[in-house]
Amino acid sequence: MAALFFLGLTATAAHVSPRGALLRSRRVRSFPALSSVPSDAPPSKSLKAMTMFSNTYAKNTGTFFCSDPGIAAVVIKGLAEHKDQLGAPLCPCRHYDDKAAEAKDGFWNCPCTPMRERHECHCMLFLKPDDEFAGDRQDISLEEVAQLIAAMP
Ligand code: SF4
Repeated sequence: MAALFFLGLTATAAHVSPRGALLRSRRVRSFPALSSVPSDAPPSKSLKAMTMFSNTYAKNTGTFFCSDPGIAAVVIKGLAEHKDQLGAPLCPCRHYDDKAAEAKDGFWNCPCTPMRERHECHCMLFLKPDDEFAGDRQDISLEEVAQLIAAMP
């Protein structure tokens, strides 16, 4: 769970690299965008949809979730929240001045253009097999996502 640190930073600062933050620190921080969601709330339709999407997309692209499953859980949750709020799964790891405009533009809707073109996921949801943070999983259940989110500080 320690690797969740980066999401607390990237929710407010677009220039912060998740990978750099991971390398610099193992401290845990909460993800501000998630803090308003009650931990005992039932999983939403969007959370289920984004979990299914992530599992399928990882397999289709030959990428893997981070060895810390909390990373996948919190990114999936962020995508689901944006899907609910904006109608599109805008990347949750960036700062936007105008989220609605960004969602309409589509460049950062998951899978974003850098991921589709170069397999670059700065959220570390979809990692190349040789990435130092890549785990061996391409599958996470909705229940595990919900449990990991509920356990977050
Ligand atoms: S693929 Fe792109 S939009 Fe999706 S989580 Fe990764 S960086 Fe964000």
